[in-house]
Amino acid sequence: MSVDVVECPNLKNEPFYLAAEGLCGNAALLEVGGPPYLLPLVDRTKLYDTKTMCQQALPVPEMLVIGAGAGPFPFLGTNVEGIFNFKINANGSVTNESHVAQVDANLDCHLQKLEPNDTRCALLGNLLLCEGKKGKVLKVHCKKRTGNLDFIASIRKCLTDHYPSTVGLGGTFILKEGKAKQHVMQDFSKTPITTEEELNTWLKFYEMPAKLIAVGTLVTDEADLDLRLQHFHSFSKGKWGGHYHIDTTPDTVEYEGYFVVAEQVVRVDKPTVTHKFGRD
Ligand code: ZN
Repeated sequence: MSVDVVECPNLKNEPFYLAAEGLCGNAALLEVGGPPYLLPLVDRTKLYDTKTMCQQALPVPEMLVIGAGAGPFPFLGTNVEGIFNFKINANGSVTNESHVAQVDANLDCHLQKLEPNDTRCALLGNLLLCEGKKGKVLKVHCKKRTGNLDFIASIRKCLTDHYPSTVGLGGTFILKEGKAKQHVMQDFSKTPITTEEELNTWLKFYEMPAKLIAVGTLVTDEADLDLRLQHFHSFSKGKWGGHYHIDTTPDTVEYEGYFVVAEQVVRVDKPTVTHKFGRD
C-alpha cells in the first residue's frame, strides 16, 4: 500500500469519468438527512434539491459535487441508489454525470444516468463539495487485502490512529481488479424493517466486478453531528452500480483512490430521533 500527495490527475478522463477535472478548492463535506428517514419505514417528504443546498453550503462560482445517497425516487417511481457526480457551472447550468442503480423486475441490477437537470437526493446523502480544480490530493494505492477491513475503513483506521481530532475526507476510488460486495436497495418496504436480518433481506446484495468507480465521504468520528463514518457508492460503464461494502477477492484486489481533506462539514436536516442501524 502506498499513500502519496500528488498532483490530481484529470478525473474527467477515463477511468474516473467525474464531472470536473479535480477535487480541489474549498473542499467541504455535506451530510443531509440520515438512515432514520429510510428505516424502519420511509419518510417520502424527505426529498432534497442538492443543487440549491450545495450552493448555499459552499458559495463558489463553480462546484463539483460527488458522493453517495438515496437517489430521487420520483425519477423511476421506485427507490434507487444515488451515485452523485455533477458540476454546477458558473452560469448555473449543471453538467450531470450522476447515476442511479435499482433492483429491476428480475432482481438484477440496473444502472442508468439521471436526467441532465435532476440533482435531487432523497432521505440521506454524503457529498463532497469542492471547486473541481486541479491541485494536490492524497493518492492511496493498494493491492491485496490482508485484513478484514474494507478499503475505506482501512483509511479511517490510519487516520484515527494518527489524529486525535475529527478528520473528514471525500473523493473517489477505482476498484481496478477483483470484485466487490455491493448492495442495491429494493423499493421501499411496506412493513417496518427493525432488525439486521430484515434489513439484509430487503437489501439486494451482488458481487460486482471491476472496474467500479466509487464516490463518497469518510470521517473519523460522528462528532456531535451524528455523521455517517463512511459512505461510498460506485458506478461502472456497464450495468453495475451500488453501495460499496468490501471486495470479495482479497488476493487479487487493486484499488487506486484520490481524496482531499475537508475544511468543513455542513450538516443539513439531522434527524432528531436517530438510531445506529443500516450504516454499514
Ligand atoms: Zn449507500
